[in-house]
Parts: sequence; C-alpha cells; structure tokens
Amino acid sequence: MPSANAANRLMKHYLGTARTLPWRAAPGTNAPDPYRVWLSEVMLQQTTVTTVTPRFNRFIERWPTIEDLAAASDKSILSEWAGLGYYARARNLIACAREIAARGSLPNTAEELRKLPGVGEYTSAAVAAIAFGERVLPVDTNIRRVAARLFAMEQPTDSQVRDVMTPLIPTDRAGDFAQALMDLGATICRPAKPLCSRCPLAPDCTAFALGQPELFPRPKARKHRPHRHGTAWWTRRGDHLWLVRRPDHGILGGMAALPGPDWTDTPHPHGPALARIRHVFTHFSLDLDLVSASEPVGDGWWHPVDDIDSAGLPTLYLKAARAALATPLFDAAA
Ligand code: SF4
Repeated sequence: MPSANAANRLMKHYLGTARTLPWRAAPGTNAPDPYRVWLSEVMLQQTTVTTVTPRFNRFIERWPTIEDLAAASDKSILSEWAGLGYYARARNLIACAREIAARGSLPNTAEELRKLPGVGEYTSAAVAAIAFGERVLPVDTNIRRVAARLFAMEQPTDSQVRDVMTPLIPTDRAGDFAQALMDLGATICRPAKPLCSRCPLAPDCTAFALGQPELFPRPKARKHRPHRHGTAWWTRRGDHLWLVRRPDHGILGGMAALPGPDWTDTPHPHGPALARIRHVFTHFSLDLDLVSASEPVGDGWWHPVDDIDSAGLPTLYLKAARAALATPLFDAAA
C-alpha cells in the first residue's frame, strides 16, 4: 500500500521533469485554458503526443477560442482533422464546441462534462482535473500501467484503478497529479524495461518489490480483426480529380473521399485494379482497389491533382491518391 509520502514524492519529481506541451501549464502554476485542455484530450485519444502536437498548434492558430471553433464550418474542421483518424472524434468535437459556445463556457465538473456530445469518462475526468482541479482521475494506458504495477493488479478495470488511486490525489493539485502519472508512465514506468531505479514511487511499488514489474498489467488477449474489401474510382479530367464527401454517419463520416461502393466482406467484381491499398482500422483491415473510371459518380467536386494534400482526405484516400499519382498509367491526364 503506497505511503502518504508517495504522492508528495511524485509531485516533487514532476516539478523537475514535467514535459513541456502546448496545452499544459507548468507544474504548480495556474491551470491552463480549459479549451486547450479539452481540445488536446480529444486529439490525444488513440493518437500519440508527437503526432498531436503540431496538429494541435495548427488548430489553435486557426481557431484560438472555442467560439471561433464553434463558428467554423464542418468542412473546414473535418479537413483540418484529416489524417488524425477516428473521425467520430471530429464530429463530436464540432457538436461539442457549438454546445459549449451556446452555453457560454465549459462545465467545470466531470459529471457535467459527461453530458456533452462524445465526452466520456476519460475526457471528462481529464478536463475536470487539469483545467478545474477536481479530485478525479483520468485513466489512460499510462496511468493504468503505473497503478497496475504499484498495486500488483494483473488486469485492473478503470474503476479499480480509480478506486486505488483516488485516495492519493492531493487536495489542491489534482491536475498536476494526473499529468505527473501520465508522464511517469510515458517516460519511466514504460511497458518494457521500466526505469525503476529513477522512479519516485519505487519505495511503494509492489511489482517492483516482487522483482517483476513487467508482469503487470497482463496483456489483453488479441481480438480477431476481420478483413474487408472496397473499390475506389479514380476519375480524372485534365488536372482535376473527382472527389466526393462520405455520408455523415459511419466510418470516415463526413470526410472527403474517392467515390466507390460500400465496403463488403468479399471482393467487388471490377475491371483491372491498377493499385491496391491495404489499410488497418481499429476493428477491421481493408483492401481498397483503385480502378479507373471515365465518368464522375455521385455528388462531388473537381479538385486539382497537384494540390491533393489540401483536399482534406483521410489517410486511406490520401494513400490511394498518392499511389495513383505514382502509377504512370493512372497519372496520365484524361
Ligand atoms: S517502481 Fe518501476 S514498476 Fe513501480 S511504478 Fe516505478 S517504474 Fe513502475
């Protein structure tokens, strides 16, 4: 059981080692802008700090306040989000920004934050703790790993992590405590080869005392990932390419795309495919065949091929477009 000093040692360690990130305030200083905390936490779900940092900076430069974001068009926000993946987050971000702007400010408790579109247990706790100092714990993979080792728990649920860790949260520094644990998990209590000799929690850590920290937490069994098939039409007129917008709901909802039929469990019959793109989503993998088409399909627009990076295409379709442009037969202007 961690001693009363464990949190103090962690806080002291954080003072000297906190990562400098554009959405953070330095440890021990005033809480950061809630808008920046909320935006960063939405972006960081399933996405690394390294990927998010430049994208966060671009968002903030373009929309410095939540009112600016709420007033922006869906199309401009989805285009700016392109490449970050998990596009339901972007759609929830838009709905959430408009609701917050309409009510005047972000709610300041986890319970109220959870009532916003797409805001779940993790994001509500992260914003409430970091921006408003509420004594709640956002359980991400880093915090789960630290807790699992500290208490030698093999496969703790989020609720078990909260139960054992919440008593350690200092009354006046809940945000710093959460971020200190996140940093500890990212830099010291790493999945492999944790640096226990540099860890401020080592005197309290059960897994360390057992001599086998890497046994905790036990890895989850891998789920089978089904495989799907799709076709994308490459329709070019001169220097322009025909693009469409996907339906608002479902995977890649609302994003720019190459046209094509719905993806299926078996391959589509089509003419010769001049390129095949393999892409792995969270719940399935996809083979997307690129097939030349002479006529545009669906409601869409002509986009200049030499400016394909600005089309707001998600990674799957950007990879497909780049593959097509690298194929001499495809690249030939119609
Ligand atoms: S002592 Fe080692 S295993 Fe325990 S929390 Fe620190 S880094 Fe992780």
